[in-house]
Amino acid sequence: MQATVFSELFNYDIGEAKRMTKEKLALEVIDRLKKEYPDAGCTLDYDQAWKLLVSVRLAAQCTDARVNVVVEDLYAKYPDVASLAAAEPEDIETIVRPCGLGKSKARDISACMRILHEQYADNVPTTFEELLKLPGVGRKSANLIMGDVFGKPAIVTDTHCIRLCNRIGLVDGIKEPKKVEMALWKIIPPEEGSDFCHRLVYHGREVCTARTKPYCDRCCLADICAKNI
Ligand code: SF4
Repeated sequence: MQATVFSELFNYDIGEAKRMTKEKLALEVIDRLKKEYPDAGCTLDYDQAWKLLVSVRLAAQCTDARVNVVVEDLYAKYPDVASLAAAEPEDIETIVRPCGLGKSKARDISACMRILHEQYADNVPTTFEELLKLPGVGRKSANLIMGDVFGKPAIVTDTHCIRLCNRIGLVDGIKEPKKVEMALWKIIPPEEGSDFCHRLVYHGREVCTARTKPYCDRCCLADICAKNI
C-alpha cells in the first residue's frame, strides 16, 4: 500500500517531491535503501558485545577496516574482558596506536573494561543510560550497541548519517549529532532505525560521498532528494 501511495507521488515533479512530508520521505528512503543494500550491517567485526564496545571506541577518526585489523592483535593478547581489564593502559596503547588517538582510546578502553569486570560480571550493560555512563561511550556508540547487540530501536548519527540526512532533506541544516538523532526519532519508525543508519553508511561511502562530488546521476534517491549539497 505504501508503495502505491509513493508511486503516485513520484509521478509529480521534483517540486512536488520536495513537498512530501519528512515522514513520508523517510519511509520512501528506507524502502529504497533496503532494496539497494539488503544485507547492510555493522562494518566493525565482532562476535561478542564487549568487542563491539572496544571497536567502536577505536573507530573514532579511524576507518572500520583498520580497526578490524588492529583488534585482531588486541584480542590475541587479551581474549576476554577480564584480561583486558587487567592490562595496563600503556600496554593497550602500544597495540591500538595505529588507530590514532592511542593514549585516550587506550585509557577509555581500560577504564571501560574495568567497569564491565567489576560491576557487570564481564557483561555489557543492557540499558542506554548505563552504556552512556561507560568511559568513551557517547550516544552514537550507545545507540550502536543497543541496535546491533540488543536488537533495540537505535539511531546512530555518524558522519554519513548527518551528511546524507541533510542532503536528502530529512533534516534541515542540523549538524549536531544529538539534534539530528532527535529529529530522526520523530520520522523514522523505531524498528527501522538501526538498519537504516547502516545503509546510510553504505550509501555514503559508495554514492553520496563526502570527499568527491556525490554521484547523484546513479543514486536511487535522485528523484526525491532535496540535494542540499
Ligand atoms: S541524489 Fe545526490 S545528494 Fe541526494 S542522496 Fe543521492 S547522491 Fe546524495
